[in-house]
Amino acid sequence: MSLEFLADELEAIRAANRWRTQKPMQSMQGPRVTREGRRVVNFASNAYLGLQAHPDIQVAAQAAVRSWGTGAGASRLLAGTNELHQELERAIAHLKRTEDAVLFSSGYLANLGVLPALAGKGDLIVSDELNHASLIDGCRLSRASVRIFPHADTAAAARILEAERPRNRRAIILTDGLFGMDGDLAPLGELARLAKRHDAILYVDDAHGTGVLGETGAGTAEHLGVGDVDVHMGTLSKAFASEGGFIAGSQELCDFLRHRARSFVFSTAPAPAPVAAALAAINLAANRPELRARLQENQSRFRSGLRGLGWPVAEGVTPVIPIPIGPSDAAMRAMTKLEEQGVWVPAIRPPTVPEGTSRLRASVMATHEPRDLEAALSAFQTLTPPKEGLPSAPLSS
Ligand SMILES: *Cc1c(COP(=O)(O)O)cnc(C)c1O
Repeated sequence: MSLEFLADELEAIRAANRWRTQKPMQSMQGPRVTREGRRVVNFASNAYLGLQAHPDIQVAAQAAVRSWGTGAGASRLLAGTNELHQELERAIAHLKRTEDAVLFSSGYLANLGVLPALAGKGDLIVSDELNHASLIDGCRLSRASVRIFPHADTAAAARILEAERPRNRRAIILTDGLFGMDGDLAPLGELARLAKRHDAILYVDDAHGTGVLGETGAGTAEHLGVGDVDVHMGTLSKAFASEGGFIAGSQELCDFLRHRARSFVFSTAPAPAPVAAALAAINLAANRPELRARLQENQSRFRSGLRGLGWPVAEGVTPVIPIPIGPSDAAMRAMTKLEEQGVWVPAIRPPTVPEGTSRLRASVMATHEPRDLEAALSAFQTLTPPKEGLPSAPLSS
């Protein structure tokens, strides 16, 4: 077996200007980080609540290593489950106000295992075009018939369901809650009505919204006042400063997934330290509504500051702020210019977003201080905003 083709593939990546390098940080994740030996204000992290450095969470992780060891040692259904796993599942169910929850090793693995468990040949998945890669891959693994609707276009989703629902056994309406590249919210109310009308399952991946949106931090559905989500998916790796993914829902759904989701059944249980860290973070966030209030204040202040400088940035409630640029080389230049001024706002370009819609994406944290936002805004003052917002183009994958 020859791997010679790899040289050509790599050359093609370089030629398309899509070569990616990893620049390691020399400090903990936080509102300010050290990167390539320089202190920069960090707008590149999904650690929205800024809990990565929180002493209570670190202590919980350390204590878990002492009590439970460093690794879980087996899959959940064999010898891998300890009391911490179950306590975390109860805490997630409490947060999402569901009967139960199932823990996975990552959000990616949750979607990869759960979609094929719920749908197969003869079933229909109706999926938003901007859904996360893990949902796209879960759809592919499921072998269900997958129909994509234009982003947030509920009329298009309705047309697909009207035409195809009768021929299919089960149907799933699949969407991100808070879209991670655009920072907007799914029209969950209308999607829930569609699900009811067409006897479909509403499956919401709220990796970005969980811990961030809603009165209690339950996420996008709580923020929008939508009570009838059937499958709540989320991650512990963003606002909750740890790692692991989950599904929350009815007792029957969770019992079923513990038997049929292959990434649950055939993977070693999550290690004690991140489980304990996530549990501590969920409990801490539940008792600290001021963290979410600070995050709201920061994101709204940053959005209006950018608008004041002439950037076509929408008003919104989310800490994910796309700043439109357009061509990918222009986005790269803008990122470099900000970086030179000590402000790190990553450029997002194809294939992550459609061609011609490259952008800077600022992720605001609850722990950014006013001086961090001011530093960023004065760096943005040295760039020239585009005349219009991002053109919308369909995502190819
Ligand atoms: C980050 C993310 C995931 C993957 O979660 P991990 O826990 O990082 O694997 C899944 N879906 C969406 C929408 C995400 O943003």
